[in-house]
Amino acid sequence: MRDFHPARFPTSDSTSVLVCKEIPLDIGFHIFSFCGPFDLAKLSCTSKSLRAFIQTNRLWESSYGNMSRGNCSRLPPPPVVEASRNYSPSAYAFWLLGGGLCTRCSAWTDSQPCHFLFRFRACSAECRGMLLHGNSMWHDKRHKYTTLSWGNWLPRESCTLPNGGTVYRYSRRAIKDAENEREQALVVDRGEQLDAECALRALDRSKISQVVVCLDVLLPKLNAPQNAKALESWQIAYLVEKAVVKSANLSFMKSMCMAENKKVQGVLRCPAALSVFDAFNRDLELITTTVWAQIRRLTLAQLEWMKAGVLPPNMPARPGDRIRCEQCNELRADGVSSHKHKATKAPETTRPMLCPECPHSRRSFSEQGLRDHMLSRSVNFPSIVFTADASPGISDLS
Ligand SMILES: [Zn+2]
Ligand SMILES: [Zn+2]
Ligand SMILES: [Zn+2]
Repeated sequence: MRDFHPARFPTSDSTSVLVCKEIPLDIGFHIFSFCGPFDLAKLSCTSKSLRAFIQTNRLWESSYGNMSRGNCSRLPPPPVVEASRNYSPSAYAFWLLGGGLCTRCSAWTDSQPCHFLFRFRACSAECRGMLLHGNSMWHDKRHKYTTLSWGNWLPRESCTLPNGGTVYRYSRRAIKDAENEREQALVVDRGEQLDAECALRALDRSKISQVVVCLDVLLPKLNAPQNAKALESWQIAYLVEKAVVKSANLSFMKSMCMAENKKVQGVLRCPAALSVFDAFNRDLELITTTVWAQIRRLTLAQLEWMKAGVLPPNMPARPGDRIRCEQCNELRADGVSSHKHKATKAPETTRPMLCPECPHSRRSFSEQGLRDHMLSRSVNFPSIVFTADASPGISDLS
């Protein structure tokens, strides 16, 4: 029986090599011009030179265009600001397309923001409802912040009340943060010491008035409300188109799986296939046979491991999964505490063996180790053998 050690779960295909440095600039430019914003953001994180290359070649522009398909138009570009901490193209792409924490319950979600101006994100219909219609919004019925200069700096949208009056509404959290900062500012004003954790730096009066002038000039230029409006209508068309692409990609994957005699549910649990499936759906691209050829080998290797009861690192087991016990190497239904460890055989007296094909090497092997070693010499990948007795495990695989 093959030793399926969890630490050896296949996660990459040896054919993927870092070749970026060897690509001529014009070819690199051509390839990157097909990328969506999320891919560019990821690429930007890999090296300073790539980051600079992407920045100086207007690749972000083309990436926004690459998000258009069917009735979905190009992605609205981020607001342009000089101090662009929140709105750098990378941060913008991650924020829109990379998922994040639910504003209400802090659970991770792959979903897009559900309110762009207030930067709300919801993990479920319930959280979404609470965020958009619950007490996460605050209506300034007494115009408390309308006249304050820093009320101007908070993200707000005007809305009409049942009685016809118009008020601004704010994110309650933004108000709270602003009030906290104001409290801290007053502490500084009184000449007292701030808490060590305080995010504010004490500024003198002349600096403060400079900052105030800056904010009053910059904020109207930062067209965040217009950007939020544009994103809102873009998102409606995007989600419709994404559903179309997802269903086409699912049909495609089904036909590939049929040819391999595998179930698509099992194949799409393999990280190699799932990450491609998700990325192509996200970027509104159709998966092609060329793409499948790229991921096929690794996907099938991962599937074999999962069938043998070894899940990829960090993948939680599902009900019905049979997982290989790390102690006795027997398959057990996950979560079943009544599992009895199989009595382990007394370790056989091992005769270290030398490899007949490597006459100059003094490296010694166990019987299984030698078989693996010789196999890995004859084929490059995967150095994984599956014996016929690898019992079928996870029910929806194979
Ligand atoms: Zn939530
Ligand atoms: Zn066990
Ligand atoms: Zn050898």
